Amino acid sequence: MPTMGYLHEGHLELIKRAAADNDEVIVSIFVNPLQFAPGEDYQTYPRDLERDARLAEEAGASLIFNPSPETMYPPGFATTVHVGGPLTERWEGERRPGHFDGVATVVTKLFNIVNPDRAYFGEKDYQQLQVVRRLAADLNLGVEIVPVPIVREPDGLARSSRNIYLTAEERPKATVLYRSLLAIREAAGRGEDPEAALLAGRAVLAEVPEFVPDYLAVVDPETLEPVKRWVPGARAIVAGRFPTVRLIDNMEVWDR
Ligand code: AMP
Repeated sequence: MPTMGYLHEGHLELIKRAAADNDEVIVSIFVNPLQFAPGEDYQTYPRDLERDARLAEEAGASLIFNPSPETMYPPGFATTVHVGGPLTERWEGERRPGHFDGVATVVTKLFNIVNPDRAYFGEKDYQQLQVVRRLAADLNLGVEIVPVPIVREPDGLARSSRNIYLTAEERPKATVLYRSLLAIREAAGRGEDPEAALLAGRAVLAEVPEFVPDYLAVVDPETLEPVKRWVPGARAIVAGRFPTVRLIDNMEVWDR
């Protein structure tokens, strides 16, 4: 289970699933500099190794791997793993240059170091999950990628290490991502097509002017290409910025 630490209920759910299905669970805690674009929060990303170690162990981890950046990327390090095609160019790939190269490179290294049978990834980072699936299949990594549903706060906000950046005023408004996704799913249930459903989602986002959307889209669940008609498992994806933090979320809006 690759993580960047500052563990919350979402991470712990992954660990618990992994512990239920496997003899040993190795959790990596590594804030990976390669996957942060210039100007992002690499330096200030929250870190608390002692707390993480306790929580991970309680959830069923047998070993924590917490390498230093110098161990992972010693002087002379020069290799990048690049997943090509539209899957990495859109959405997060467009807003975070180099992000998926950083993810693909570190995940490949972690798989080679740990040699796991299975690796657990949250649907919270839905595009990342699809990129890692592509990577594992294309390079015959021999690791089964297991998706885990999003764990949310009681009010619907997807759990994230970055939620602590939200101010007291922003925190209740941060449910706007979840509510926009729900509006799309409800519109789909009423028989509206994806375009009309998106309008319903956009109307919800417009209620919170502090939130500046990067994108809101209805996409194919594997390719992440926008869809004009409902397909099984269609996903709504959303991302955007509050003054203090960038948030992402997604939801299945059409049954498989
Ligand atoms: P991170 O530490 O943010 O890199 O996340 C490590 C793993 O935990 C990734 O596979 C994430 O998708 C997953 N994860 C993070 N937040 C959640 C959540 N709220 N629900 C489910 N999985 C999550």
